[in-house]
Amino acid sequence: MTFLRSTCSYCGVGCGVLIKKNPYTGEIHLKGDESHPASRGKLCSKGMNLHHVAMETSDRLTVPRMRVNRQAPLQEVSWETALSRAAAVFKGLIDKFGPDSVGFYLSGQLLTEEYYIINKLTKGFIGTNNIDTNSRLCMSSAVVGYKKSLGEDAVPVSYDDIELADCFFIAGANPAWCHPILFRRIEAHKLANPDVKIIVVDPRHTQSASIADLHLPIIPGTDIYLFNAIARVLIEQGKMDAAFIAEHTNGFEHVQAKVFELTLAEYAEKCGVPAADIVQAALWIGDAKGFISMWTMGLNQSVVGVNKNLALINLSLITGKIGRPGNGPFSLTGQPNAMGGREVGGLSTMLAVHKEINNPVHRQEIADFWGVPSVPDRPGLSAMEMIDALEAGRMKAIWIICTNPVDSMPNARRVEAALRKANFVIVQDISKNASSLDFADLILPAAGYMEKSGTMTNADRRVSLVQKITDAPGQALADAEIIWRFAAKMGWQKSFNYSSYGQIFDEYKMQTKGTNIDVSGLSHAYLKANGSVQWPFASADSKGTPRLFTDHRFYTPDARANMFAVAPDNASENTDTDFPLVLTTGRIRDQWHTMTRTGKVSKLNKHIPEPFVEIHPNDAERFGIINGDLVDVRGRRGDVRVRAKLTETIREGVVFLPMHWGRIMQRDAGRANNLTHDLIDPTSKQPDFKFSAVNVHKYVPK
Ligand code: SF4
Repeated sequence: MTFLRSTCSYCGVGCGVLIKKNPYTGEIHLKGDESHPASRGKLCSKGMNLHHVAMETSDRLTVPRMRVNRQAPLQEVSWETALSRAAAVFKGLIDKFGPDSVGFYLSGQLLTEEYYIINKLTKGFIGTNNIDTNSRLCMSSAVVGYKKSLGEDAVPVSYDDIELADCFFIAGANPAWCHPILFRRIEAHKLANPDVKIIVVDPRHTQSASIADLHLPIIPGTDIYLFNAIARVLIEQGKMDAAFIAEHTNGFEHVQAKVFELTLAEYAEKCGVPAADIVQAALWIGDAKGFISMWTMGLNQSVVGVNKNLALINLSLITGKIGRPGNGPFSLTGQPNAMGGREVGGLSTMLAVHKEINNPVHRQEIADFWGVPSVPDRPGLSAMEMIDALEAGRMKAIWIICTNPVDSMPNARRVEAALRKANFVIVQDISKNASSLDFADLILPAAGYMEKSGTMTNADRRVSLVQKITDAPGQALADAEIIWRFAAKMGWQKSFNYSSYGQIFDEYKMQTKGTNIDVSGLSHAYLKANGSVQWPFASADSKGTPRLFTDHRFYTPDARANMFAVAPDNASENTDTDFPLVLTTGRIRDQWHTMTRTGKVSKLNKHIPEPFVEIHPNDAERFGIINGDLVDVRGRRGDVRVRAKLTETIREGVVFLPMHWGRIMQRDAGRANNLTHDLIDPTSKQPDFKFSAVNVHKYVPK
């Protein structure tokens, strides 16, 4: 019984775990991996309980199930029957309506090899770019922000830069609960170095704000006002790096003109932050030897998510605080393999290895690599566009893998209606969820964490191995095996003739050769023997790449970083007298997504056992609500009934609902997405979960 090195499969910190299984009792033991560079042996409450999730198999899907039509019950079938039906349905629809009539909706929790093979199947063989993922809901605004400003979807810094920084600007993120081990590193660094400054931007005084030197309780949606105001002060106070700007950037004059359009007092009023605090934040950033900005859903999940990213990255470029130790913009990844999924092209708007759909040379390179004549030349449907297309009847079949869109997508009741309208829904997952139980025509049982080996890439470009410890229950198969068996049924066996994830990785890595994300020096065997590494990693002699742009040459065509003058407006849903409050949604400490895994662990359920709405006491008084009241939160698309939690830690005029509870856990009584709208950022196509108009009323039984 020896411990195998693996990786936590929850958030993008990607903590190292050591796991072993007792062959006699079947018991699984798990602990933190002290040699892992991101986590140094530590695990948070979710990571510590990973093995309990793996051992709890009572709700696992173990046999394929199918219904002959929507009215018929689901019945157990063989894999042969299930995959023959899937292939017959897909062939029939593609023949009749074309390849864009089908699509795949995936998850940032899939392994890189799984993403790779599904992407190859979809874009190379079916002939559509209709493959998207719940990472669209999570990271796509940051992807576009990095690409536009730095020329590549690439986080320039490492976790090891934390201990080298002396100013952290954490905006729209609560790492204390959502990236706990990263937060502990910041906290320990601050404790050891009291001069380190921490600025937290959030309408809620979260646990992350509890260690802040400055908490900026911004009015929701006004982030760009704040970032532009800080840029203005940096310029006014002479805190910019003029030589860096002149030699390595484009667009400074436009930014300068834009940020001087408003006075500091006007900015302060717009974003609800005192002018003195804006100046203080700017001075700490300008004077820092190491300045790291960190952000996640509070910026990305917005109709102006890309602009928020660009305005924040401007602060690093104006001050030249990038490409140096302890400096850089650091987007935090919500899911364990959102970055790996993008590396292999698992978004409808990009090709594998970060190549571009609108570039004919790139398309031909990808087609040649897979041995197909071409790949489609127009972007596929993004997550919300798939819902639109299902609703409109343009898309006929959707194959959902490892995610639960019925609870996790915005405007949930519209998502349900769209799935009901689809001709055929396949759900491939490890256990029952709301999407499979009520909407699937075909359910395919998949192997879960610890039941397969493959790779993931965490938020600081670190590729690591997830190892198989135990067999999947019943007839469940690894996701990639389901896909290669399906590809054979479609007649493409020769191009999908795999028998292991290692083979798929070896094929993928050759596709990366010579690109900015080159991992051609890696293999499963290397990762098993040596542990994780950061890309680029072009040869087995490489030490990996902890920091990008150290020569201040960026991945743009002219090697200069781009600054963008962005307008500060937020074109999200309007509040009015009927719906006067802004709803923002987010995570709680011990739950993950729609609780399909963490909800099984009684220890984790004890932290916060039921859904709630946070409301400021002044708003509660206006609506006649006291702490603990059962209340109806109503919006333009639906409602939820939850308990009110009165707290002065939330800004007046704002309410907060956790995102986790959904159709199975509570029917849909506490499902935040009954209330969220489905507007998206026009460039990144990312939905806005942080700004919906609602009201709150005390529930009075009839
Ligand atoms: Fe897992 Fe994230 Fe917790 Fe680390 S911080 S143990 S990766 S959930």
